[in-house]
Amino acid sequence: MDASAYSRDDWRAKAAALKFHTGHFIDGEFVASKSGATFASINPANGEVLAEVARGGAEEVARAVASGRRAFKSGVWSRLEPRARLDVLNRFAGLIEAHADEFALLDSLDMGKPVMDMINIDIPGSTRTIRYFAETVDKLEGAVTATAFDALHYILRQPLGVVGLIVPWNYPLMMAAWKLAPALAVGNSVVLKPAEQSPLSAGLLARLFVEAGGPPGVLNVVQGVGEEAGKALALHNDVDKIGFTGSVEVGKLMMIYAGQSNMKRVTTECGGKTPQIILADWDDLDMAVTYAVNGIFGNQGEVCNAGSRILVEAAIHDEFVERFKLKAAESFTPGDPLDPRTTMGPMVTMGQQQRVLKYIDIGRKEGATLGLGGGVPAGLNQGAYVEPTMFLGVDNAMTIAREEIFGPVAAIMKVDNADQAVEIANDSIFGLAASIWTRDISRAHRFARDIEAGVVWINCFDHGDATQPWGGYKQSGNGRDKCLEALTQYTQTKSVWLHLGG
Ligand code: NAD
Repeated sequence: MDASAYSRDDWRAKAAALKFHTGHFIDGEFVASKSGATFASINPANGEVLAEVARGGAEEVARAVASGRRAFKSGVWSRLEPRARLDVLNRFAGLIEAHADEFALLDSLDMGKPVMDMINIDIPGSTRTIRYFAETVDKLEGAVTATAFDALHYILRQPLGVVGLIVPWNYPLMMAAWKLAPALAVGNSVVLKPAEQSPLSAGLLARLFVEAGGPPGVLNVVQGVGEEAGKALALHNDVDKIGFTGSVEVGKLMMIYAGQSNMKRVTTECGGKTPQIILADWDDLDMAVTYAVNGIFGNQGEVCNAGSRILVEAAIHDEFVERFKLKAAESFTPGDPLDPRTTMGPMVTMGQQQRVLKYIDIGRKEGATLGLGGGVPAGLNQGAYVEPTMFLGVDNAMTIAREEIFGPVAAIMKVDNADQAVEIANDSIFGLAASIWTRDISRAHRFARDIEAGVVWINCFDHGDATQPWGGYKQSGNGRDKCLEALTQYTQTKSVWLHLGG
C-alpha cells in the first residue's frame, strides 16, 4: 500500500512493530559503547522513552575514525572507479525509498515531525540529493594550466580522507544525506554523529549503505551527546574535515576545536532569522500569505531558514495580518505526528518547548502584541507542543526579532517601503535566506543584489532543489550544502609540476 493511503492506526501499528538500531555502526557492524553507557531517546509527542541508545565518547570516535582511515587507505572506496561509486550511491537511494515507512516513523517518533512530512519532504529531499551527487562522481575535473613552455602543470582534485559530519535534529535523515552524499561521492570515509535528540534513523541509514554495496568502514556512525562524542570527533587529530550543521554557538566551537587539534577544515551551516518581505505592489496577497504561513510554521518552525521575520508594507499590513491568522488556523493545528492529517507536531523536546515559551514571554514583556497563539494547545499537555504564534508591532531591536527561536513564532513588522525593509532585513547577525514579493522586476533584482543572505527567493519561499547552493552569509555559516560547490568542499587540490626540459 502507498504510504499516502495509511491511516493513523496503520502508522501506529507499524510504529509498534518497529525495530530500533541503537548501537554505533563501526566497520560495518552495530556495536555498543565500551562502557555500556546509553542515553534515552524520547518521543516528544508523549514523553515516552523510545529506546536506550549507545552513548559514545572518545573511545568510540577513535574506533570509528580508525575504521574510516583503514578503509580510505585500502582504496576500497576512495580508489574505486567513479562509476562503481555511482552505482552504490544509486542503490543506496533506492534502498532508502524501499524503507521509506521505517525512516518516516523513526524521525517522526524521535523528533515529533508529522509522519507525512517525512514521506513528502524529507525522504524525497534525501534521495534526490544522493542521486544528484551520484551523478557527479565523474564530473569533477582537474585542470591543466597555461604555464611556462618547458613545463606541464596540472591540478588534481583528491578526496580529503576521513570526514566527520555533525548534524542537527530538525531534519535528521535529510541533513545527514545532504552531507554524506557529496563526502562519499568523491571517495572520502565518513564518521557521522547524529544529534542526541534524534539518533534513530542514522543506524538504518548506515546499514543500508553497506547493503547497497558500500564497503564496511566507509560510513560509520557514532551515537552520543554533543559535548562528548561530537567534541571528541571535532578534536580528533586524524579527522581531515568537519562538516557541521547546527547552532551558531556550536558552529563557533567547531572552529575552536579545529584550531586546538590538527587545523582540520571546517564548514558550517548554522541558524537564521530569515526575512520575508511583502510589498504592496504584489497583487496576489493570498499566495504571499500562504507561503508566509508555511514559511514560519512548517516543521514546527524548527527550520534553519524559517521565515521568522515578516516585513509587510504599511498599505497592506492590516489585511495581510487578518489573512495570516485565518490561514494559520486553517493550515496548522498541532496534533499527533502519526496522524496523516497532522501538519504540526510537538517541539523536539520538553526543553525546546520551554525555550520557545520563554521567547514568547520575552516578546510580550518587550512590548510586542500577541496576535495569535502564545501557549500550549488545549488537550496536548502530555507532549512538547506550542501553538502557532504570531506577534504584531515587532521592532527589529526586540529579542524575538534578533535571536533564533527555532519554533513556531512569527514576528510581523510594518515597514514604510522596500528600502526600509532591506535595511531592517540586513540588520541581523544571520544571513541564511531571504524572500521578497513584488511585481517590480528591478526592485526584485536590487533586493537580490543587496540582501545579505546566501539564499534568495523572489515571489516564492523555500523553493529549491539539489543544484541550489545552500548556506549562509555572516554567522549563518561558511559552507554550501547541495550543489557542485559542496563536492569541492570535500576535496583538496594538488598541484603537479612536471619539468619537460628541452
Ligand atoms: P546544536 O548546535 O545544538 O547541535 C548540532 C549538533 O552538534 C548535534 O549533533 C550536537 O550533538 C552537536 N554538538 C552540540 N554541542 C557540541 C559540542 N560542544 N561539540 C561537538 N558537537 C556538539 O544544534 P541543534 O539544536 O541540534 O539544531 C538546531 C540548529 O541547527 C539551529 O540553529 C538551526 O538553524 C541549525 N540548522 C542549520 C541548517 C542549515 O542548513 N544552515 C539546517 C538545519 C539546522
